Amino acid sequence: MIVRGAWVLPVTHNPIRAGGVLIRDGVIKAVGSGRDLERAYSDEEVLFFENEVIMPGFVNLHSHIEYSSLHKRCRRGSFTGWIQDMIRESRRMEDDDWVRSSGLGAREMVRSGVTCIGDITKTDTSFDAILDAGIRGVVFLEVIGFDDSVVEDIITGLIERIRRFRDRGDGRVRIGVSPHAPYTVSRRLFEAVGSVSSRMNLPVMTHLAETEDEERFVRDGEGIFAGSFKDIAGWKGVEWRGVGLSPASYLDACRLLSERTVVAHAVHVSDEDISLLKRRGVSIAHCPRSNRYLGVGDAPVKKILDMGINLGLGTDSLASVDSIDIFQEMRSIDPRVPPPTRIRMATINGAKALGMEDQTGSLEPGKCADIIAVTTEKDDPYNVYLSSRDDIRIVIAGGSVLYEG
Ligand SMILES: [Zn+2]
Repeated sequence: MIVRGAWVLPVTHNPIRAGGVLIRDGVIKAVGSGRDLERAYSDEEVLFFENEVIMPGFVNLHSHIEYSSLHKRCRRGSFTGWIQDMIRESRRMEDDDWVRSSGLGAREMVRSGVTCIGDITKTDTSFDAILDAGIRGVVFLEVIGFDDSVVEDIITGLIERIRRFRDRGDGRVRIGVSPHAPYTVSRRLFEAVGSVSSRMNLPVMTHLAETEDEERFVRDGEGIFAGSFKDIAGWKGVEWRGVGLSPASYLDACRLLSERTVVAHAVHVSDEDISLLKRRGVSIAHCPRSNRYLGVGDAPVKKILDMGINLGLGTDSLASVDSIDIFQEMRSIDPRVPPPTRIRMATINGAKALGMEDQTGSLEPGKCADIIAVTTEKDDPYNVYLSSRDDIRIVIAGGSVLYEG
């Protein structure tokens, strides 16, 4: 099959006017002039998109598809109010509800042109949902626990979960681990999950420096996370005095930061934190619309990029964003960031963060055929970030057409 468009935007190479992509057996075989490809492979079926940009499918670096049915059920504007609603609403969900919610989320991703995802799950339901949806990614198995007396049980359970999923899914969906956040995971649990990750060579994703309250909690053992939140989360009796470190330095002290690590949000990070994350080779998932929804502030995106940190883009879950729309995410990034960088953040940078850049994130021979066609009005393919999800004409993952609009 040859997919031709007004432009081909390979992301890692210059755009090609009137370009085409040759797909065979689910893999990209050639990228170049559409006419030349048609001539050289005259018996191939041709999909021709006259007004569209052909580009890699998006990589959504941070999401929780299992929370999709909590859409509009959790307060906006206050992180602590929101997380209280999340806990309450989650307790109402039954096993079937989680399965349905994850399925809904995976379909929303496909509909939004996402062909690769970094997804955190506590119910493990997102694994099959992503597999069934036909896309790829890493599913990070989440652990939560502030009570050190249960760390061993949590780790035993985590290893069982890893073994259950590790060899399923033809390599399309891989497994990672996710200690939730510094205010829900004890130091010992962070260290234990870090050692599972290095022993089993698994990627790690965690939430870091999302709120000012988190910094107060980690540094001084004060604020809302040290107070009423502990009651709600069920750790009322557990002592915590703070460690006198920023959340980033704290995770480093727990030996959690490495090239295998992705941290989500990184809103309240100092220059020292940013350079620490750079030294450790950590990738960051920027979630601009979720940050706005929760009113947690703006991440220092310009500084993070200038420092040379690999920065991807994530929607977070439908519980904290109005829609899964990567175009809106790209438009919500700091206005100083140029369009080509926005597009890299939504594609190849996410793939790198997940260790999947050999498979996806750009249009290059040898990579999986994860491709979308998007209608754009302007004569500059980088303006594709000004489009919307309704402008997506086709979503192809591994050479299979998953959506046509
Ligand atoms: Zn999250």
